[in-house]
Amino acid sequence: MRLSILQYGDPILRAKGKRIEKIDDRVRDLAQNMIETMHGANGVGLAAQQVSEAIQLSVLDVSQVEDRPSTMKLNGRNIAPETAMPLVLINPQIDLGAETEMGAEGCLSFPEITGEIERAKSITVRAQNLDGDPIEIETTGFLARAIQHEVDHLNGILFIDRMSSGAKTSLSSKLKRLQKETERGAKHRPKAVAETTL
Ligand code: ZN
Repeated sequence: MRLSILQYGDPILRAKGKRIEKIDDRVRDLAQNMIETMHGANGVGLAAQQVSEAIQLSVLDVSQVEDRPSTMKLNGRNIAPETAMPLVLINPQIDLGAETEMGAEGCLSFPEITGEIERAKSITVRAQNLDGDPIEIETTGFLARAIQHEVDHLNGILFIDRMSSGAKTSLSSKLKRLQKETERGAKHRPKAVAETTL
């Protein structure tokens, strides 16, 4: 089932997600619906806050992103990232590598806005999967960026918070308009504008 995606201005996007203590049918159904919602909107990542649930759950699928490669180790073994997609991360904890790089990002909660964001080039993330098993992922490239974007969402942090002040200033009228629309209760069916919308 496709869920509605909250837009910038909704306070749930600023809420820190609660830790998931029990992976039950409710969590499994929500994860499934989030995957459908992400695919339906042509996005490559979605966090629970974006569908009105402030809990530590996010889904990703970078398998269709061809021009921005990723590497991935799952539990210490090199694997092709697309074989692990869609990826469900529950209660993720992230360690950032020291080196950073700039890259373009969009967000399903910010229709038609993209920005250059500085992120760690490589990360290690420890999480649980839908079976409750612990997983460890070491990744570089676009998947590393995407996971950082999603883990930020789970902590109430949005990609505009990581833009340069100049970039944010030039977007300020667009952001105000979006916020007003959200306050008025406008409903949208956002679609990704690029293959980099999370
Ligand atoms: Zn996002």
